[in-house]
Amino acid sequence: MLNIVLFGPPGAGKGTQSERLIEHFGLVHLSTGDIFRANIKGETELGLLAKSYMDQGNLVPDEVTINMLKSEVMKHESPKGFIFDGFPRTTAQAEALDAFLASINSSITKMIGLEVAEDELRERLRKRAEVSGRPDDANPEVIQNRINVYKNETAPVKGFYEAQGKYTAVNGIGSIDEITARLYKAIEE
Ligand code: AMP
Repeated sequence: MLNIVLFGPPGAGKGTQSERLIEHFGLVHLSTGDIFRANIKGETELGLLAKSYMDQGNLVPDEVTINMLKSEVMKHESPKGFIFDGFPRTTAQAEALDAFLASINSSITKMIGLEVAEDELRERLRKRAEVSGRPDDANPEVIQNRINVYKNETAPVKGFYEAQGKYTAVNGIGSIDEITARLYKAIEE
């Protein structure tokens, strides 16, 4: 299987680029944020729980997120692979993902990090708020908290895959097409 972790701070373009990658490589897109939002919309128990964290820009607890991710992976019969978008966001999630994939005789192929400077992220999220309808995009304090949570809890996940020789950085500044081309290259090489 081709299993890619698309990594990067909020606003880096993970969702947009994932849509292109799944089409090009025939992969399944697993965005934990999208799955939580679908649960909020469907007013499920998981959605209710996730909402209280998401509205503040905090992470949903690891155990809940990991269990949800595993059950989503298992919904697909003989997939070509997955794009993990927004997961893993903590080292504990990365360890759990490795163990889980090993248990189904698979592994992460690569982590690709979309690198974008912080000022640009804030600007992109501010613009996205006008169209996304996401409450966590609309509030500057929540945006700042998401960036801080990324730096404190999520950024160390890069080191986890670097230690395995699986991390590749991609410049996340440029047109959507330019960045897609860089990602294709990073995945194929
Ligand atoms: P995203 O759509 O990736 O920006 O995620 C939106 C929000 O969903 C995050 O701010 C978190 O509250 C929650 N979330 C998404 N993925 C995870 C994850 N892997 N671990 C914990 N919380 C997550």
